[in-house]
Amino acid sequence: MFPNAECELTHSNEFELLVAVVLSAQATDALVNKVTPGLFAKYKAPEDYLAVSLEELQHDIKRIGLYRNKAKNIRKLSADLIEKHDGHVPSNYTDLVNLAGVGRKTANVVMSVAFGEPAIAVDTHVERVSKRLGICRWKDSVLEVEKTLMRKVPKEEWSDTHHRMIFFGRYHCKAKNPNCPECPLLEICREGQKRMKKRG
Ligand code: SF4
Repeated sequence: MFPNAECELTHSNEFELLVAVVLSAQATDALVNKVTPGLFAKYKAPEDYLAVSLEELQHDIKRIGLYRNKAKNIRKLSADLIEKHDGHVPSNYTDLVNLAGVGRKTANVVMSVAFGEPAIAVDTHVERVSKRLGICRWKDSVLEVEKTLMRKVPKEEWSDTHHRMIFFGRYHCKAKNPNCPECPLLEICREGQKRMKKRG
């Protein structure tokens, strides 16, 4: 359904991608994309985020939810990049995940999108779709979902699968109103069949 799914966060280099992913926590990519053109025109390198006051940065991203914490995190992340990596975004997972405010999901997105390495980042869409389809158990943690997908999906398809599952969750198997009646996966989907039975 979504063969050409790709990262929807606008960015032109790995540092912009990293900042965009941090900003996208509990916010839509569409909203982040409204803010980042202005932001990236003003802040081009980690030093730029530290050259202004915290209040100024907060003001610049205040349309995005959790902006107070996100501004703090971006400044800590920028300081970390300067201190540990000369201001560059490292291209290996371990260094990425050890940066301030960078979790598994963010590190996986950067590895996959910026550096072309196979990775499966489990966001809210990937988690929901995996569980509805019965690929994972409802009680599985995000880490368990990631490990199960890595086991079940061939490595060379990790990155594409990640983006396709995000698109599928964002545009078809939506959180509130999944389109089960028109879903090509209905036959093999336990959640879809349950929902269809309820509709009668
Ligand atoms: S049948 Fe419904 S719940 Fe299952 S994958 Fe399709 S849209 Fe999602």
